Amino acid sequence: MPGVVASQVTFRRSLLRWYGENARKLPWRDIPNPWRILVSEIMLQQTRVEAALPYYDRFLQRFPDARSFASASEPEVLAIWSGLGYYARARNLQRAARLIETSFPSDFGFIRALPGVGPYTAAAVASIGFGLPHAAVDGNVLRVLARVTGDEGDIADSATRQRIAGLAEELLDRARPGEFNQAMMELGATICVPRNPRCLVCPVALHCEARKQGRQNELPVKRPKGAPTAIECAVIIIRRRDRVLLKQRPADSARMAGFWELPAPEDAPGVPVLREAGEFQHTIVNTRYRVRVLVAAPVRIVHLASAAAGAQWVPQDELEHIPLTTITRKALRHIS
Ligand code: SF4
Repeated sequence: MPGVVASQVTFRRSLLRWYGENARKLPWRDIPNPWRILVSEIMLQQTRVEAALPYYDRFLQRFPDARSFASASEPEVLAIWSGLGYYARARNLQRAARLIETSFPSDFGFIRALPGVGPYTAAAVASIGFGLPHAAVDGNVLRVLARVTGDEGDIADSATRQRIAGLAEELLDRARPGEFNQAMMELGATICVPRNPRCLVCPVALHCEARKQGRQNELPVKRPKGAPTAIECAVIIIRRRDRVLLKQRPADSARMAGFWELPAPEDAPGVPVLREAGEFQHTIVNTRYRVRVLVAAPVRIVHLASAAAGAQWVPQDELEHIPLTTITRKALRHIS
């Protein structure tokens, strides 16, 4: 790893100057309060910044501190997270809030041990929220440093990731760790992007091996992933006056326990299908669902199969207040 290690001081200075002049305005950057940082980092774990922004504002208006979230009811927790996906994050965040309650300790070991907090999130909260010197290494930082150092290891391999994480610790500006971490992530998100990085305006271009070698589009090296599994399914919208029939996922479901969803056609055998309202795709991890949305003829009584036990008629104007699965939320747009 040549170049960058030899000139760490200039690397830091160039990066921080650029960040000071170009940082995007994001709400969690306005007030570096550890609770707000934790909420933002948990939300951003599997969600893009643009998608998380409206949820973040709404969440903090309702739960401005850990204590208020610690005492929220489960339906309330799921409802405020509804649409963001990966609901284990919301449950973990509430368990974390119960450990924090009124005072968030400035202690890396405590932060790292919080539920749902891995090494990256712990370092981000510790450095941005408390100014503790820990390098936060996410996918953006891995990409930037793989290019800067010309690292040819497979970025999915733990040995490559550990090597790059070690360099990130070495490069970290210990006087301004929060800013440094955010600057690295910002560089990866806005300049050193996965395809066609904007090397001409990059503040660390002079330190970059990939650029020197003209290999910025070849690095980092990535092993090809397996193709996603495709699943075709259908949901049925059954209405009675202003109510929609929904069923609740059992409490012991591996995914989205307690959430409400539209029944599948096989849950309501004998219900006549009036029309097909459309279809959409929804991807969860490595599974791509193609979902057909069926609309039933108005019915007075529905006999549900046992798989749909726990079904209820829910008034349409209450739908936004209960936790719905994302597939159901998308499907209901076909009748709104
Ligand atoms: S010079 Fe290009 S490849 Fe190197 S860090 Fe900057 S944007 Fe990334």
